[in-house]
Amino acid sequence: MDVTRATNMSTDISESGSPKKLVIIGSGPAGWTAAIYAARAQLEPVVYEGVAKQDPGPVLPGGQLMLTTEVENYPGFPHGVTGPKMMQDFRTQAERFGTKIFQQDVLKCDFSKRPFELTLSEDGKTVSGTVQAKSVILATGAVANWIGLDNEMRLARSGGGVSACAVCDGALPAFRNQDLAVVGGGDTAMEEATYLTKFARTVTVIHRRDSLRASKIMQDRFLGRPNARMAWNKAVIDVLGENVISGVRLKDTVTGQESEMAVKGLFIAIGHTPATKFLADSGVVLDAAGYVLLKDRTSYTNIPGVFAGGDIADPHYRQAVSAAGMGCIAALDAERWLAAENVH
Ligand code: NAP
Repeated sequence: MDVTRATNMSTDISESGSPKKLVIIGSGPAGWTAAIYAARAQLEPVVYEGVAKQDPGPVLPGGQLMLTTEVENYPGFPHGVTGPKMMQDFRTQAERFGTKIFQQDVLKCDFSKRPFELTLSEDGKTVSGTVQAKSVILATGAVANWIGLDNEMRLARSGGGVSACAVCDGALPAFRNQDLAVVGGGDTAMEEATYLTKFARTVTVIHRRDSLRASKIMQDRFLGRPNARMAWNKAVIDVLGENVISGVRLKDTVTGQESEMAVKGLFIAIGHTPATKFLADSGVVLDAAGYVLLKDRTSYTNIPGVFAGGDIADPHYRQAVSAAGMGCIAALDAERWLAAENVH
């Protein structure tokens, strides 16, 4: 995905003035769905969609789907749709009902004041202003962790067979009946590898140790497949291939010996990091992994008037369609909360 192209999606203007009824932070499926619902409920939502950056992999307005090639599991698209096209369409739909969009990051949130005060940045680093909000929806998602190799990032950006989401990309024709590899040793790696065994010739899980962190049941599910393979004590130190991946270079973490493995697809499953750094000192309660904690089956955080939806609050499902559903819930909760608070 070309970062410049993604950046040009947006009109970048700043806005100050009276407090907004609802500010939505984040521009993935949860953020845009919240915006569509909130705009139709005449809450005049303002979306801060974020700034394109490398951190260390690409982070783009539109979120993880901007790095996905074909989306085939979102209902309503019988022939599939690309992730970037889907996000552009979500955005257009939100704009159609009057959502205001700014290509800025929110660096900091002060939820101790009423209205709330959010600190903004046009470059993702330096402060460019503040905005006041009567309610806020947190929808900045989570970022897949990458190993951080140059060729890994290059082929992930170009759709050359490196991906951080097997459920998104694994069923694509390019991966069918091929030898694929998954990096990681946790439940995500097992889940993604098991999923891939349905399409691939072989799936090798490359893990840096000699035992898996994944739960026993998830391990057994993968290892029970006839085309499952394990590469123990191996670290991926390079990704090979010009336009499309042809293999990986491995280093044995015990002996230091290097080797090559031919693969036609590489799936990185070494965890996700929720994008919650901007909530440090905000008072919003996070779990041990940094995900926003929600009350029961709602989008309520511990701070009245602050709601959350999508991957920022979901370590388990992390799908475009589940994030969109959570965005809808957040907008409905915000609308009802504002009505109860008598905010106009
Ligand atoms: P995780 O449990 O943190 O596992 C990450 C794995 O990646 C670990 O095996 C780790 O190796 C490896 N790793 C980390 N950094 C690496 C690097 N730079 N290079 C190579 N390997 C690296 O993350 P997760 O698997 O995404 O799971 C996150 C949470 O979601 C867990 O609580 C999990 O149980 C849950 N989850 C549940 C389900 C389910 O129940 N269906 C599915 C998915 C996830 P080490 O083991 O050596 O540290």
